[in-house]
Amino acid sequence: MHRFVHDQPSMRVIFGAGAIDRLPDEVQRLGARRVLVLASPGRRPVADAAAGRLGAAAAGVFAEPSIHVPIEVARAAREAARQVDADCCVTIGGGSTIGLGKAIALDSGLPIVAVPTTYSGSEMTPIHGITDRGAKRTGRDPKVLPKVVVYDPALTVGLPRHISGPSGMNAIAHAVEALYAPDATPIVSLFAADGIRALARSLPIVVREPANLDARADALYGAWLCGTALGATSMGLHHKLCHTLGGSFNLPHAEVHTVVLPHAAAFNRAAAPDAMRVIADALGADEAAQGLYDLAARIGAPVALKEIGMPADGLDRAARLATEQPYANPRPVDYAGVRQLLEDAYRGLRPRAIADC
Ligand code: NAD
Repeated sequence: MHRFVHDQPSMRVIFGAGAIDRLPDEVQRLGARRVLVLASPGRRPVADAAAGRLGAAAAGVFAEPSIHVPIEVARAAREAARQVDADCCVTIGGGSTIGLGKAIALDSGLPIVAVPTTYSGSEMTPIHGITDRGAKRTGRDPKVLPKVVVYDPALTVGLPRHISGPSGMNAIAHAVEALYAPDATPIVSLFAADGIRALARSLPIVVREPANLDARADALYGAWLCGTALGATSMGLHHKLCHTLGGSFNLPHAEVHTVVLPHAAAFNRAAAPDAMRVIADALGADEAAQGLYDLAARIGAPVALKEIGMPADGLDRAARLATEQPYANPRPVDYAGVRQLLEDAYRGLRPRAIADC
Protein backbone atom coordinates (compact mmCIF):
# COMPACT_ATOMS: atom_id res chain seq x y z
CA MET A 1 0.00 0.00 0.00
CA HIS A 2 1.45 3.37 -0.98
CA ARG A 3 1.98 6.16 1.56
CA PHE A 4 -0.88 8.57 2.04
CA VAL A 5 -2.44 11.22 4.25
CA HIS A 6 -6.15 10.83 4.89
CA ASP A 7 -7.72 13.98 6.29
CA GLN A 8 -11.46 14.06 5.97
CA PRO A 9 -13.74 16.20 8.10
CA SER A 10 -16.63 14.31 9.62
CA MET A 11 -20.11 15.40 8.65
CA ARG A 12 -23.50 14.64 10.07
CA VAL A 13 -25.81 12.98 7.55
CA ILE A 14 -29.54 12.37 7.99
CA PHE A 15 -30.66 9.97 5.30
CA GLY A 16 -33.96 8.48 4.16
CA ALA A 17 -37.46 9.20 2.88
CA GLY A 18 -39.03 11.73 5.24
CA ALA A 19 -35.63 12.92 6.54
CA ILE A 20 -36.78 16.51 5.95
CA ASP A 21 -39.04 16.09 9.01
CA ARG A 22 -35.85 16.19 11.09
CA LEU A 23 -34.88 19.64 9.80
CA PRO A 24 -36.20 21.60 12.82
CA ASP A 25 -34.35 19.29 15.24
CA GLU A 26 -31.13 19.58 13.27
CA VAL A 27 -31.32 23.36 13.19
CA GLN A 28 -32.04 23.44 16.90
CA ARG A 29 -29.13 21.08 17.52
CA LEU A 30 -26.86 23.70 15.94
CA GLY A 31 -28.32 26.30 18.29
CA ALA A 32 -29.70 28.34 15.38
CA ARG A 33 -32.66 30.65 15.92
CA ARG A 34 -32.73 32.77 12.73
CA VAL A 35 -32.53 30.58 9.66
CA LEU A 36 -32.38 31.85 6.07
CA VAL A 37 -33.74 29.24 3.67
CA LEU A 38 -32.20 29.31 0.16
CA ALA A 39 -33.69 27.73 -2.96
CA SER A 40 -33.90 28.22 -6.71
CA PRO A 41 -37.07 30.07 -7.83
CA GLY A 42 -38.56 26.79 -9.13
CA ARG A 43 -38.16 25.18 -5.72
CA ARG A 44 -39.79 28.07 -3.84
CA PRO A 45 -42.80 26.01 -2.64
CA VAL A 46 -40.45 23.43 -1.09
CA ALA A 47 -38.47 26.23 0.55
CA ASP A 48 -41.66 27.83 1.90
CA ALA A 49 -42.75 24.46 3.27
CA ALA A 50 -39.36 24.04 4.95
CA ALA A 51 -39.63 27.53 6.46
CA GLY A 52 -43.10 26.54 7.70
CA ARG A 53 -41.62 23.49 9.44
CA LEU A 54 -38.99 25.67 11.08
CA GLY A 55 -41.71 27.93 12.53
CA ALA A 56 -40.30 30.77 14.62
CA ALA A 57 -36.73 29.76 13.72
CA ALA A 58 -37.33 30.71 10.05
CA ALA A 59 -36.09 34.24 9.43
CA GLY A 60 -36.66 34.37 5.66
CA VAL A 61 -36.59 32.67 2.27
CA PHE A 62 -34.22 33.74 -0.53
CA ALA A 63 -35.13 32.25 -3.92
CA GLU A 64 -33.18 33.88 -6.78
CA PRO A 65 -31.65 32.15 -9.82
CA SER A 66 -28.09 31.22 -8.85
CA ILE A 67 -26.66 29.07 -11.67
CA HIS A 68 -22.85 29.35 -11.39
CA VAL A 69 -23.37 31.73 -8.42
CA PRO A 70 -23.13 35.16 -10.09
CA ILE A 71 -21.39 37.67 -7.81
CA GLU A 72 -24.45 39.94 -7.85
CA VAL A 73 -26.69 37.14 -6.54
CA ALA A 74 -24.07 36.17 -3.96
CA ARG A 75 -23.99 39.80 -2.74
CA ALA A 76 -27.79 39.95 -2.60
CA ALA A 77 -27.92 36.68 -0.63
CA ARG A 78 -25.25 37.90 1.79
CA GLU A 79 -27.22 41.10 2.26
CA ALA A 80 -30.44 39.13 2.83
CA ALA A 81 -28.64 37.08 5.50
CA ARG A 82 -27.39 40.27 7.19
CA GLN A 83 -30.79 41.95 7.06
CA VAL A 84 -32.54 39.11 8.87
CA ASP A 85 -29.56 38.66 11.19
CA ALA A 86 -29.33 35.00 10.11
CA ASP A 87 -27.34 32.54 12.21
CA CYS A 88 -27.74 29.57 9.83
CA CYS A 89 -28.54 28.85 6.17
CA VAL A 90 -30.62 25.94 4.95
CA THR A 91 -30.08 25.23 1.24
CA ILE A 92 -32.80 23.27 -0.54
CA GLY A 93 -31.77 22.45 -4.09
CA GLY A 94 -28.91 21.39 -6.33
CA GLY A 95 -25.31 22.52 -6.68
CA SER A 96 -26.32 26.07 -7.61
CA THR A 97 -28.29 26.62 -4.39
CA ILE A 98 -25.62 24.95 -2.28
CA GLY A 99 -23.08 27.19 -4.05
CA LEU A 100 -25.04 30.25 -2.93
CA GLY A 101 -25.05 28.98 0.66
CA LYS A 102 -21.30 28.50 0.40
CA ALA A 103 -20.90 32.09 -0.85
CA ILE A 104 -22.67 33.30 2.30
CA ALA A 105 -20.64 30.98 4.56
CA LEU A 106 -17.37 32.09 2.94
CA ASP A 107 -18.18 35.69 3.84
CA SER A 108 -19.75 35.21 7.26
CA GLY A 109 -18.91 31.72 8.53
CA LEU A 110 -22.63 30.93 8.93
CA PRO A 111 -23.27 27.19 9.30
CA ILE A 112 -25.02 25.47 6.38
CA VAL A 113 -27.59 22.72 6.60
CA ALA A 114 -27.79 21.30 3.06
CA VAL A 115 -30.82 19.49 1.70
CA PRO A 116 -29.60 18.35 -1.74
CA THR A 117 -32.20 17.65 -4.41
CA THR A 118 -29.84 16.71 -7.28
CA TYR A 119 -26.77 14.49 -7.48
CA SER A 120 -24.10 17.20 -7.85
CA GLY A 121 -22.33 16.13 -4.62
CA SER A 122 -21.45 19.75 -3.79
CA GLU A 123 -22.86 19.34 -0.28
CA MET A 124 -19.92 17.08 0.55
CA THR A 125 -17.10 19.36 -0.62
CA PRO A 126 -15.30 22.42 0.77
CA ILE A 127 -15.13 23.75 -2.82
CA HIS A 128 -16.79 27.11 -3.49
CA GLY A 129 -17.17 29.07 -6.71
CA ILE A 130 -18.42 32.53 -7.64
CA THR A 131 -18.78 33.89 -11.19
CA ASP A 132 -17.58 37.45 -11.69
CA ARG A 133 -17.60 39.11 -15.13
CA GLY A 134 -17.85 35.77 -16.92
CA ALA A 135 -15.02 34.07 -14.99
CA LYS A 136 -15.70 31.51 -12.27
CA ARG A 137 -13.30 31.77 -9.33
CA THR A 138 -13.14 28.62 -7.24
CA GLY A 139 -11.35 27.75 -4.04
CA ARG A 140 -11.41 25.41 -1.07
CA ASP A 141 -12.27 26.46 2.46
CA PRO A 142 -13.45 24.18 5.28
CA LYS A 143 -15.73 27.04 6.38
CA VAL A 144 -18.14 26.35 3.51
CA LEU A 145 -18.58 22.66 4.24
CA PRO A 146 -22.15 22.07 5.45
CA LYS A 147 -22.46 21.08 9.09
CA VAL A 148 -25.37 18.76 8.38
CA VAL A 149 -26.64 17.15 5.17
CA VAL A 150 -30.24 15.95 4.98
CA TYR A 151 -30.77 13.50 2.13
CA ASP A 152 -34.46 12.92 1.52
CA PRO A 153 -35.13 10.95 -1.67
CA ALA A 154 -38.81 11.97 -1.54
CA LEU A 155 -37.70 15.52 -2.43
CA THR A 156 -36.03 14.25 -5.61
CA VAL A 157 -38.91 12.37 -7.27
CA GLY A 158 -39.82 15.54 -9.20
CA LEU A 159 -36.32 15.96 -10.60
CA PRO A 160 -36.93 15.54 -14.35
CA ARG A 161 -35.23 12.72 -16.25
CA HIS A 162 -33.19 15.12 -18.36
CA ILE A 163 -31.67 16.64 -15.20
CA SER A 164 -31.43 13.43 -13.15
CA GLY A 165 -29.29 11.54 -15.69
CA PRO A 166 -26.58 14.16 -16.34
CA SER A 167 -26.56 15.12 -12.66
CA GLY A 168 -25.77 11.51 -11.74
CA MET A 169 -23.03 11.38 -14.39
CA ASN A 170 -21.58 14.57 -12.87
CA ALA A 171 -21.30 12.73 -9.56
CA ILE A 172 -19.68 9.72 -11.24
CA ALA A 173 -17.10 12.07 -12.77
CA HIS A 174 -16.02 13.14 -9.28
CA ALA A 175 -15.42 9.52 -8.32
CA VAL A 176 -13.59 8.65 -11.54
CA GLU A 177 -11.07 11.43 -11.02
CA ALA A 178 -10.73 10.65 -7.31
CA LEU A 179 -9.64 7.10 -8.19
CA TYR A 180 -6.57 8.32 -10.09
CA ALA A 181 -5.89 11.52 -8.13
CA PRO A 182 -2.35 11.94 -6.77
CA ASP A 183 -3.81 12.33 -3.27
CA ALA A 184 -6.18 9.34 -3.47
CA THR A 185 -6.29 7.15 -0.38
CA PRO A 186 -7.66 3.61 0.02
CA ILE A 187 -10.63 4.99 1.97
CA VAL A 188 -11.50 7.58 -0.65
CA SER A 189 -11.22 4.88 -3.31
CA LEU A 190 -13.76 2.76 -1.45
CA PHE A 191 -16.17 5.71 -1.44
CA ALA A 192 -15.53 6.38 -5.13
CA ALA A 193 -16.03 2.78 -6.24
CA ASP A 194 -19.23 2.28 -4.26
CA GLY A 195 -20.52 5.68 -5.38
CA ILE A 196 -20.09 4.71 -9.04
CA ARG A 197 -21.68 1.32 -8.37
CA ALA A 198 -24.74 2.87 -6.70
CA LEU A 199 -25.29 5.42 -9.46
CA ALA A 200 -24.69 2.94 -12.29
CA ARG A 201 -27.36 0.61 -10.91
CA SER A 202 -29.85 3.32 -9.91
CA LEU A 203 -29.78 5.88 -12.75
CA PRO A 204 -31.34 3.59 -15.39
CA ILE A 205 -34.22 2.97 -12.95
CA VAL A 206 -34.48 6.65 -11.98
CA VAL A 207 -34.97 7.74 -15.60
CA ARG A 208 -37.41 4.89 -16.30
CA GLU A 209 -39.40 5.26 -13.05
CA PRO A 210 -38.74 8.72 -11.59
CA ALA A 211 -41.00 8.05 -8.60
CA ASN A 212 -39.15 4.88 -7.56
CA LEU A 213 -38.05 5.88 -4.05
CA ASP A 214 -35.56 3.03 -3.64
CA ALA A 215 -33.73 4.01 -6.81
CA ARG A 216 -33.84 7.69 -5.83
CA ALA A 217 -32.36 6.80 -2.45
CA ASP A 218 -29.65 4.70 -4.07
CA ALA A 219 -28.76 7.57 -6.41
CA LEU A 220 -28.54 10.07 -3.51
CA TYR A 221 -26.35 7.62 -1.62
CA GLY A 222 -24.08 7.37 -4.67
CA ALA A 223 -23.96 11.16 -4.98
CA TRP A 224 -22.98 11.42 -1.31
CA LEU A 225 -20.06 9.02 -1.77
CA CYS A 226 -18.90 10.58 -5.05
CA GLY A 227 -19.10 14.10 -3.59
CA THR A 228 -17.04 12.98 -0.60
CA ALA A 229 -14.41 11.58 -2.98
CA LEU A 230 -14.24 14.91 -4.84
CA GLY A 231 -13.94 16.85 -1.60
CA ALA A 232 -11.01 14.74 -0.44
CA THR A 233 -8.87 14.74 -3.60
CA SER A 234 -7.50 16.99 -6.36
CA MET A 235 -9.19 17.20 -9.72
CA GLY A 236 -7.57 16.18 -13.01
CA LEU A 237 -7.94 16.84 -16.73
CA HIS A 238 -11.63 15.94 -16.82
CA HIS A 239 -12.66 18.67 -14.35
CA LYS A 240 -10.27 21.15 -15.96
CA LEU A 241 -11.88 20.54 -19.35
CA CYS A 242 -15.38 20.87 -17.93
CA HIS A 243 -14.53 24.13 -16.16
CA THR A 244 -13.05 25.45 -19.41
CA LEU A 245 -16.02 24.41 -21.53
CA GLY A 246 -18.58 25.57 -18.96
CA GLY A 247 -16.85 28.87 -18.22
CA SER A 248 -15.69 29.93 -21.69
CA PHE A 249 -18.49 28.49 -23.82
CA ASN A 250 -21.33 28.67 -21.31
CA LEU A 251 -22.22 24.99 -21.72
CA PRO A 252 -24.53 23.39 -19.12
CA HIS A 253 -22.57 22.01 -16.19
CA ALA A 254 -23.85 18.44 -15.66
CA GLU A 255 -24.23 17.80 -19.41
CA VAL A 256 -20.62 18.82 -20.11
CA HIS A 257 -19.44 16.38 -17.45
CA THR A 258 -21.58 13.65 -18.99
CA VAL A 259 -20.19 14.12 -22.50
CA VAL A 260 -16.53 14.62 -21.61
CA LEU A 261 -16.18 11.87 -19.01
CA PRO A 262 -15.85 8.79 -21.28
CA HIS A 263 -13.26 10.62 -23.38
CA ALA A 264 -11.27 11.82 -20.38
CA ALA A 265 -11.25 8.23 -19.12
CA ALA A 266 -10.07 6.98 -22.53
CA PHE A 267 -7.31 9.63 -22.52
CA ASN A 268 -6.10 8.43 -19.11
CA ARG A 269 -6.67 4.72 -19.39
CA ALA A 270 -3.15 3.54 -20.17
CA ALA A 271 -1.73 5.79 -17.44
CA ALA A 272 -4.18 4.70 -14.71
CA PRO A 273 -4.91 1.00 -15.29
CA ASP A 274 -5.78 0.21 -11.65
CA ALA A 275 -8.35 3.00 -11.46
CA MET A 276 -9.83 1.92 -14.78
CA ARG A 277 -10.29 -1.64 -13.52
CA VAL A 278 -12.14 -0.39 -10.44
CA ILE A 279 -14.35 1.90 -12.57
CA ALA A 280 -15.18 -0.86 -15.07
CA ASP A 281 -15.99 -3.26 -12.25
CA ALA A 282 -18.25 -0.70 -10.52
CA LEU A 283 -20.05 -0.07 -13.81
CA GLY A 284 -20.39 -3.77 -14.54
CA ALA A 285 -18.64 -3.11 -17.88
CA ASP A 286 -15.70 -4.69 -19.69
CA GLU A 287 -13.87 -1.38 -19.93
CA ALA A 288 -14.17 1.95 -18.08
CA ALA A 289 -14.38 4.52 -20.92
CA GLN A 290 -16.82 2.50 -23.02
CA GLY A 291 -18.84 1.62 -19.90
CA LEU A 292 -19.23 5.32 -19.04
CA TYR A 293 -20.32 6.14 -22.58
CA ASP A 294 -22.79 3.26 -22.64
CA LEU A 295 -24.29 4.29 -19.28
CA ALA A 296 -24.83 7.88 -20.53
CA ALA A 297 -26.45 6.59 -23.73
CA ARG A 298 -28.61 4.13 -21.80
CA ILE A 299 -30.06 6.81 -19.54
CA GLY A 300 -30.77 9.12 -22.47
CA ALA A 301 -28.16 11.72 -21.48
CA PRO A 302 -26.27 13.69 -24.14
CA VAL A 303 -23.12 12.08 -25.56
CA ALA A 304 -21.90 14.81 -27.95
CA LEU A 305 -20.67 18.35 -27.31
CA LYS A 306 -22.35 19.47 -30.53
CA GLU A 307 -25.73 18.46 -28.96
CA ILE A 308 -25.27 20.81 -25.99
CA GLY A 309 -24.22 24.01 -27.73
CA MET A 310 -20.46 23.70 -28.31
CA PRO A 311 -19.42 25.59 -31.46
CA ALA A 312 -17.17 23.55 -33.78
CA ASP A 313 -14.86 26.54 -34.21
CA GLY A 314 -14.29 26.70 -30.45
CA LEU A 315 -12.48 23.37 -30.14
CA ASP A 316 -8.98 24.75 -30.82
CA ARG A 317 -9.43 27.47 -28.22
CA ALA A 318 -10.87 25.02 -25.69
CA ALA A 319 -7.88 22.68 -26.17
CA ARG A 320 -5.49 25.60 -25.72
CA LEU A 321 -7.21 26.85 -22.56
CA ALA A 322 -7.42 23.38 -21.05
CA THR A 323 -3.73 22.71 -21.57
CA GLU A 324 -2.63 26.01 -20.01
CA GLN A 325 -1.84 25.45 -16.33
CA PRO A 326 -3.18 21.87 -16.36
CA TYR A 327 -4.31 20.12 -13.20
CA ALA A 328 -2.31 17.08 -12.05
CA ASN A 329 -3.31 14.18 -14.31
CA PRO A 330 -2.12 10.58 -14.71
CA ARG A 331 -1.20 11.09 -18.38
CA PRO A 332 0.73 14.26 -19.18
CA VAL A 333 -1.61 16.74 -20.82
CA ASP A 334 -0.61 17.78 -24.35
CA TYR A 335 -2.40 19.97 -26.88
CA ALA A 336 -2.66 17.32 -29.63
CA GLY A 337 -4.06 14.67 -27.27
CA VAL A 338 -6.61 17.06 -25.74
CA ARG A 339 -7.62 18.39 -29.17
CA GLN A 340 -8.34 14.82 -30.30
CA LEU A 341 -10.26 14.12 -27.08
CA LEU A 342 -12.42 17.20 -27.73
CA GLU A 343 -12.98 16.22 -31.37
CA ASP A 344 -14.24 12.78 -30.29
CA ALA A 345 -16.44 14.34 -27.58
CA TYR A 346 -17.77 16.92 -30.04
CA ARG A 347 -18.83 14.23 -32.47
CA GLY A 348 -20.15 11.94 -29.71
CA LEU A 349 -18.02 8.95 -30.75
CA ARG A 350 -17.98 5.89 -28.51
CA PRO A 351 -14.41 5.59 -27.18
CA ARG A 352 -12.48 3.04 -29.20
CA ALA A 353 -11.61 -0.35 -27.74
CA ILE A 354 -8.15 -0.47 -26.15
CA ALA A 355 -6.92 -2.88 -28.83
CA ASP A 356 -7.78 -0.31 -31.56
CA CYS A 357 -5.94 2.60 -29.94
P1 NAD B 1 -28.67 23.14 -10.36
O1 NAD B 1 -28.51 23.28 -8.91
O2 NAD B 1 -28.39 24.34 -11.20
O3 NAD B 1 -30.14 22.60 -10.64
C1 NAD B 1 -30.56 22.35 -11.98
C2 NAD B 1 -32.07 22.61 -12.09
O4 NAD B 1 -32.78 21.61 -11.40
C3 NAD B 1 -32.52 23.95 -11.51
O5 NAD B 1 -33.41 24.55 -12.41
C4 NAD B 1 -33.23 23.54 -10.23
O6 NAD B 1 -34.24 24.45 -9.87
C5 NAD B 1 -33.80 22.20 -10.63
N1 NAD B 1 -34.05 21.29 -9.50
C6 NAD B 1 -33.20 21.00 -8.50
N2 NAD B 1 -33.74 20.05 -7.71
C7 NAD B 1 -34.93 19.75 -8.22
C8 NAD B 1 -35.96 18.82 -7.87
N3 NAD B 1 -35.82 17.99 -6.84
N4 NAD B 1 -37.06 18.75 -8.64
C9 NAD B 1 -37.20 19.54 -9.73
N5 NAD B 1 -36.26 20.43 -10.13
C10 NAD B 1 -35.15 20.53 -9.37
O7 NAD B 1 -27.79 21.94 -10.97
P2 NAD B 1 -26.67 21.02 -10.34
O8 NAD B 1 -26.16 20.21 -11.47
O9 NAD B 1 -27.13 20.35 -9.13
O10 NAD B 1 -25.54 22.05 -9.88
C11 NAD B 1 -24.67 22.67 -10.81
C12 NAD B 1 -23.83 23.70 -10.09
O11 NAD B 1 -23.20 23.10 -8.96
C13 NAD B 1 -22.71 24.27 -10.96
O12 NAD B 1 -22.60 25.64 -10.71
C14 NAD B 1 -21.46 23.54 -10.47
O13 NAD B 1 -20.30 24.28 -10.67
C15 NAD B 1 -21.80 23.34 -9.02
N6 NAD B 1 -21.11 22.17 -8.44
C16 NAD B 1 -20.27 22.42 -7.39
C17 NAD B 1 -19.60 21.37 -6.80
C18 NAD B 1 -18.70 21.64 -5.63
O14 NAD B 1 -18.14 20.74 -5.05
N7 NAD B 1 -18.54 22.88 -5.24
C19 NAD B 1 -19.79 20.04 -7.24
C20 NAD B 1 -20.67 19.83 -8.31
C21 NAD B 1 -21.33 20.91 -8.90
